[in-house]
Amino acid sequence: MVNMKRMIARLSVLTALGMGITALSVPATAGTALLSASFESGTDGFSARSTESVVRSSDKAYDGQYSLFISNRGNDWNGPTISLGSEWQSGETYSFSCAVYQNSGETVEMKLSLQYEADTTYYVQIATESVPSDKWVVLSNPSYQIPAGASSRYLYIETTESKCDFYVDAVSGELPTHYRKGDVNYDEKIDKADVQLLLSYLEGENAEISLETADMNEDGKINVIDLSLLRKYFIYPERYTTTTTTTTTTSKPQLAPGQWYNTADISWIPKGSKTVALSFDDGPISGQNFANRIHDALTKQGFHATFFYWGTRISSNENEIKEAERRGFEVANHTWSHPDNLDKQDANGVMSEYTKCKDALNRVLGVNRDYLVRLPYLKYSSTIANTLPVPFPNSGIDSGDWSGSSASAIVQKIQQAAQNGSLNGQVVLMHETYDTTATAVEQLCPWLAQNGYVVCTVSEMFKYNNKEMYAGKVYNSCW
Ligand SMILES: [Zn+2]
Repeated sequence: MVNMKRMIARLSVLTALGMGITALSVPATAGTALLSASFESGTDGFSARSTESVVRSSDKAYDGQYSLFISNRGNDWNGPTISLGSEWQSGETYSFSCAVYQNSGETVEMKLSLQYEADTTYYVQIATESVPSDKWVVLSNPSYQIPAGASSRYLYIETTESKCDFYVDAVSGELPTHYRKGDVNYDEKIDKADVQLLLSYLEGENAEISLETADMNEDGKINVIDLSLLRKYFIYPERYTTTTTTTTTTSKPQLAPGQWYNTADISWIPKGSKTVALSFDDGPISGQNFANRIHDALTKQGFHATFFYWGTRISSNENEIKEAERRGFEVANHTWSHPDNLDKQDANGVMSEYTKCKDALNRVLGVNRDYLVRLPYLKYSSTIANTLPVPFPNSGIDSGDWSGSSASAIVQKIQQAAQNGSLNGQVVLMHETYDTTATAVEQLCPWLAQNGYVVCTVSEMFKYNNKEMYAGKVYNSCW
């Protein structure tokens, strides 16, 4: 029932957004249900996470006569939960869906979430929706990968900043149908042919393509972001040694202080790559398109980079930061006011510069994390080292963009480093505030890709090379 509704919904989306896209006929193999809870005869294995009440109710129903009613919630995270048993494989991708209803009189953000154990306990969102009062809303994610290595996995439903009562119905979890995101040509393999077909389509050639498999991030559009997400796993399939062939809209686990290098996702970096961390200071910048150009140049190659944001500039261009995060780039801290004397400030001053920028980034992204810090003017002191709980990526190679280097001079400097073997593992200092930098990055990204380099974030580069970073220390490279 739920399946059928979703299939119909998705087909109408296909039709609605189908301008310029030739929809292929999609094989209609049904998913294999592992979880299907309608609450018609009981609570179907669901129980409370805490002391809240979770009971079957005939007051409301999305399907059938009954739903699950949750009340007396003392916390946002209180809600119905069910353990995912051994039939669910960590690392495998599933389709999840549930219907929720609340009548608090206000719109409430509701989340279908997963709790699991890895190195610590994680709480991640599978699907999130704003749920208006008195309206059933379906939370769904047709392609959610349970993180590899996850154990003690619990599916649950919660709210953000509300303790309202709510109803849940039609909870389902199933193996996705056999065509998958990324299988652009529907041959049941995800490989270079899919990349090529998507690229042809984006280049305006008359390629047959559909939202069903090509819209990797499910935003209803097919663009370079989808190409990037596809390439993330399949840039060099012959060098890609794992068998994981799905990309997902997985929420990243929250980064715990001091653990960013452990939680960075490096699964997309092909084995045997040389890595370099291009890093960009002084954004976000409003009214200029340099950052957009840098974003697109990176994304076109499936690359990532680290962006160190200047606190007082954040409120004028929050979308740029959200976009960076969405593309898998690393958001980082360049202090609140970019003082030229941070090395002369006392611990309170240093902490305030750090915390105000961190808090602003957390607010924009709706998370609670620490971020790597690039020290303004690279000025360092023992007070800074002893005060801040994070490492300081510095400048292994200085692009010189800040001192007026031309685009070609920047390109040449990086190419020379690549050719003499000194680029691998380096943190490259750049700024997103110059036309010359954007032009150089547009030229460098395809060149680096062709020469066996992967441009990645600072955290990814360190993790990929099995190098740790420690709080209070300056890092010019992995070595
Ligand atoms: Zn700066």
